[in-house]
Amino acid sequence: MNYNKSIRLFAEAQKYIPGGVNSPVRAFKSVGGNPIFIKSANGAYLFSEDGNSYIDYINSWGPMILGHNNQKVKQAIINQLENGTSFGTPTELETEIAKLIIENVPNIDKIRFVSSGTEACMSAIRLARGYTQKDKIIKFEGCYHGHADSFLIKAGSGALTFGSPDSLGVTQDNAKNTLVATYNNLDEVKELFKHNPIAAVIIEPVVGNMGCVPPKEGFLQGLRDLCDKNQAVLIFDEVMTGFRLAFGGAQELYGVNADLVTYGKIIGGGMPVGAFGGKEEIMNCLSPLGGVYQAGTLSGNPISLSAGLAILKELLHNKNIYKTINETTRYLDTEISNILTKKGIPFTTNRVGSMFSIFFTKTEVTNFKTASLGNNNVFKKFFHHMLQSGVYLPPSSYESWFISLAIKDIELEKTYLKAFGFNKY
Ligand code: PLP
Repeated sequence: MNYNKSIRLFAEAQKYIPGGVNSPVRAFKSVGGNPIFIKSANGAYLFSEDGNSYIDYINSWGPMILGHNNQKVKQAIINQLENGTSFGTPTELETEIAKLIIENVPNIDKIRFVSSGTEACMSAIRLARGYTQKDKIIKFEGCYHGHADSFLIKAGSGALTFGSPDSLGVTQDNAKNTLVATYNNLDEVKELFKHNPIAAVIIEPVVGNMGCVPPKEGFLQGLRDLCDKNQAVLIFDEVMTGFRLAFGGAQELYGVNADLVTYGKIIGGGMPVGAFGGKEEIMNCLSPLGGVYQAGTLSGNPISLSAGLAILKELLHNKNIYKTINETTRYLDTEISNILTKKGIPFTTNRVGSMFSIFFTKTEVTNFKTASLGNNNVFKKFFHHMLQSGVYLPPSSYESWFISLAIKDIELEKTYLKAFGFNKY
């Protein structure tokens, strides 16, 4: 495949944009090589500036659950465009989408819209702190909740210690209020609760940001119980899992109730939207009703919400979508696993619904430490082999694949065929 134009465009972009990208993972740093510049997308395919096409397993990192350029979503955006792009006033559309979510998702009494998943998580934490009048939060190593200061904290030598900043510019003062535990380890969370007043526990109920990692049986319920016992707010970050694993997300799939839930990605149908919602008693602490301030010039933007409403209606009224994408993902897992087994390449796969990851290690992956055992050299080779063959995978072994409804048998067959040609040496 020829990448000449992408190479030229990346060189030009780097002159004007730090690292040439507006979000770091797009730069291919962990797999090496030149990022591909995309010109357009339709259905299951991305089309590059170089004239190449790719079967897409990223789907804009999750939002494009129906595939690219979905007609209903596109038409909703076009219709709204005729009326204007932003008013800075309340609109009927905001109530319509809020009502649809509240009526169909567990435990959401009230919801507020923002413009990104980061904003949603940042606001949910402030709200939990305001509600409980406590400062400290618990997060899990390897879980990503956007780039607000409180979340860019790693475990350092492990749990039960104060976190240290993961990024320059995040102060120690900020880090000291973020405690970090190992995913799927309830005992560590219990210890943290024993020694600290905790405002909130925030978690990706199924992790997508260390590759796909599911919760062990009883883990989410264990967190629910600990939060109840200690008057802490349980926050499910469903930016990836919301409306993907089920319409009601991980809450519905696992039958565990969160106090607050954050959303992004699918809820905007590919436009910039986030949201956070939950129990009325907590949500009513938000300004202008309560003392927790939170705002946004473009929050609840009508173009974004019209796209969001269109995609949510489609998902709600056609429940077969979940069955179909889950089946597609199961096939993908089975076939790729068969191929890698035949080739004698050590690997393990994780899959929940339409989220899926391959780790090039034989060890079961249940947390960040085990996710890190994956052989990144093999991943890089696999990624580039697939890319060369017209299959676009996430350019990092720490990212989940997102399967869309547009992936049909023909795309699956092409994918297996290409995977079959993989040689790790
Ligand atoms: N939470 C999770 C689980 C995410 O995966 C992400 C982004 O990938 C975020 C929060 C942040 O969302 P955004 O990138 O829209 O700010």
